[in-house]
Amino acid sequence: MPVSSPVDRWIVLKFGGTSVSRRHRWDTIGKLAKKRAEETGSRVLVVVSALSGVTNELTAIADGAADSRARVAALVERHQAFLDELELPRAVLGERLAALQALLDDARAAARTLDWQAEVLGQGELLSSSIGAAYLHQNGLDMGWMDARQWLDALPPLPNQSPWSQRLSVNCQWKSDEAWAQRFRAQPTRLLITQGFIARHADGGTAILGRGGSDTSAAYFGALLGASRVEIWTDVPGMFSANPKDVPDARLLTRLDYYEAQEIATTGAKVLHPRSIKPCRDAGVPMAILDTERPELPGTSIDGSAAPVPGVKAISRRNGIVLVSMEGIGMWQQVGFLADVFGLFKKHGLSVDLIGSAETNVTVSLDPSENLVNTDVLAALSADLSQICKVKIIVPCAAITLVGRGMRSLLHKLSDVWATFGRERVHMISQSSNDLNLTFVIDETDADGLLPILHAELIDSGAMPVEETAVFGPRWREIAGTVRPRGTPWWRGQRAHLLQLAEAGTPRYVYHLPTVRARARALAAITPIDQRYYAIKANSHPAILETLEAEGFGLECVSHGELKHVFNVLPGLSPRRVLFTPSFCPREEFEAAFALGVTVTVDNVEALQRWPDLFRNRELWLRVDLGRGEGHHAKVRTGGKESKFGLPMARVDEFVRAATELGTTIVGLHAHLGSGVETAQHWRLMCDELAGFARRIGTVQTIDIGGGMPIPYSEEDEPFDLEAWAEGLAEVKAVHPAFRLAIEPGRYLVAESGVLLTRCTQVVEKEGVRRVGLDAGMNTLIRPALYDAWHDIENLSRQGGYAEAAFDVVGPICESSDVFGKRRKLPASTAPDDVMVVADAGAYGYVMASTYNQRAMPREDILE
Ligand code: ADP
Ligand code: ASP
Ligand code: MG
Repeated sequence: MPVSSPVDRWIVLKFGGTSVSRRHRWDTIGKLAKKRAEETGSRVLVVVSALSGVTNELTAIADGAADSRARVAALVERHQAFLDELELPRAVLGERLAALQALLDDARAAARTLDWQAEVLGQGELLSSSIGAAYLHQNGLDMGWMDARQWLDALPPLPNQSPWSQRLSVNCQWKSDEAWAQRFRAQPTRLLITQGFIARHADGGTAILGRGGSDTSAAYFGALLGASRVEIWTDVPGMFSANPKDVPDARLLTRLDYYEAQEIATTGAKVLHPRSIKPCRDAGVPMAILDTERPELPGTSIDGSAAPVPGVKAISRRNGIVLVSMEGIGMWQQVGFLADVFGLFKKHGLSVDLIGSAETNVTVSLDPSENLVNTDVLAALSADLSQICKVKIIVPCAAITLVGRGMRSLLHKLSDVWATFGRERVHMISQSSNDLNLTFVIDETDADGLLPILHAELIDSGAMPVEETAVFGPRWREIAGTVRPRGTPWWRGQRAHLLQLAEAGTPRYVYHLPTVRARARALAAITPIDQRYYAIKANSHPAILETLEAEGFGLECVSHGELKHVFNVLPGLSPRRVLFTPSFCPREEFEAAFALGVTVTVDNVEALQRWPDLFRNRELWLRVDLGRGEGHHAKVRTGGKESKFGLPMARVDEFVRAATELGTTIVGLHAHLGSGVETAQHWRLMCDELAGFARRIGTVQTIDIGGGMPIPYSEEDEPFDLEAWAEGLAEVKAVHPAFRLAIEPGRYLVAESGVLLTRCTQVVEKEGVRRVGLDAGMNTLIRPALYDAWHDIENLSRQGGYAEAAFDVVGPICESSDVFGKRRKLPASTAPDDVMVVADAGAYGYVMASTYNQRAMPREDILE
């Protein structure tokens, strides 16, 4: 397609490593380039990265890896194989691959001069762009190939810029220049392809834009051409509220302004190179981040006109941070001290990122992406600094940053975030003066696994306003299609019936027995499990006990009261099917349990020592603490030093000795680390550990892995992966076939079977917060107040076709914690007397209800 008139409208499309490594993605690139040209009548410049992983290999070669020749050979093979896959002749890369090989024998190779390193690094993009041009040409697209080094010029070195960054981390000239533009316009084809990452050095050699720098190349071209848009095509459909690979619940950020995008990129979101935003911002070129594998998704738009939305937009992490802590007596006030210190950083070509200071200490961080921070440089810096102060280098650290507008006004919402960091050793906290970020520096190892927790806390506290649909889009796991849907709850099909029940008085709990049976049968189908008990503390309604007993479940009780209740409801029940697992109970309860003939579990040595006559010649189960707790909230974790439950492992031998002296045998071993644990692997590991102890004890027949399986309370929760759980148990069972395996779930069996029906009493607006008051409160259902638990809440009286509004849903109790949910979406027309349903209230609902404030107990109904 030669250009007849010199069209001067441009779109720049940049494709990253994964986007250029597969044949079908090149088909997409071709289609997109053509489509953009047709839709907008523009010319299109395609900027590409090297095939994925290639720059890493070239970096190793440039760094002088001992096996450089083998690495080059593998690179040659990889590119040739890709040519074969694309059905292109190998001659397409003949000269380029020869040039790559020749670099190893270049005169500069031995000294690894920086200009030689730059040439090595640049080969990846030269290869990928040549492949792309040939493939698209073969498919009928006239795509002109350009050497980016003829178009992008590295800026002259800044004062004090290190030789390394003058060659391998350069900035380029990108202010508009008519002569340049004219020369560009004169290119003969309408579609053009070039390399990211490389530019021309002032000495005529190759310069490199820094790792991830292809984004910046695209931005430079966008600014120089005054393009209508720069699109960054990658392997995720946009910038997210956290790295989606680490945080599956991260939300797509659909629209950002340049400043927030800049901050998110600078603080670690690798999806966009931090230096790529300024050129586009200054030239007024909008940017978009899009997914080559899912080109139909809208992605993230970054421009200057996005309306500012206050709140945290993202949490990012940077690794490899080096902290330099400088200690000196009374120096802070000393004239010129900091100038001397920073003079030394300047001398070693190091740019400082974060700064923290105290009376006698100044600590700064060095970001490895902006600096060459190797051991030689650090040793030289330390030697110089130690002349004026005491130096400590702390590595490797991670910087975790919250980014968003108005961080200062959000501090009150960050209490959970502070508490989470409080459990780690925080080396430095820094708040940016532009009020856009708050950074915590901790040891790299401590940062592992922290981001999903912090992300959830930011949402729960309202600091990250995910309900703002102008900014926040879907979760990564919804987009990636890995969400297992929750399924429709039973009560959706029973609306009329529930409304009718509500007429008889609210608040009332309603339990759906078919749901209880369905859960019971799902567990019964898991063959590695030999014995199943229902933990009746979750819900002791007689109909539920009868149902589960009929489904083959034994019953697990934690008090004499529960034992009496069980035998009242089921007088014929064999005591062999009943467990008694008390915590700090009085002697009388043990006596009663032994008299009933049920299986008794003990979790401390002191009980045996105090009441030897009571425990003599018995068969007992022992509850141990495996040293850690897990679960949905601190208050439901039942393991570890903080927890009152279980015998610590270090005292197991002592317990066995005490039991043996009494002629008592330990026939069961039990652990339960917490409730609402989401990883299916947890039980497998626990079972394995228990089996190890059981072998040591020698008399154990049954291993009881407790309960704790979660249910999906909120739309964001996935149903528990029962299959993975069963598989894990089958694996351990195969390793330890000698033991019978027991479980004792509560919540899992009954939570989803129950709803709480309650009526709206008042709707009140106070200073911008709308509240719906209910006739049920924390006395009726205490989980939200006690554990910050989520329960879905719906207005049963008004269904379908309504406008939504956000309400805080509260009860009638005189306590400020009497809140069922904040910022809940309900029909805007919600009004007094509407019947509301609080979902998944079948477990720990009625059983924990009270008459606090002299309010009546709720009622209960059973649906067959
Ligand atoms: P490309 O090779 O296309 O340039 P990169 O690997 O440089 O792609 O950048 C894309 C990656 O950035 C994603 O795969 C993702 O793991 C990572 N990433 C880190 N933080 C974020 C974030 N906040 N949003 C989106 N992606 C992120
Ligand atoms: N290929 C280069 C790198 O991996 C540049 C880029 O992909 O953005 O760092
Ligand atoms: Mg990249």
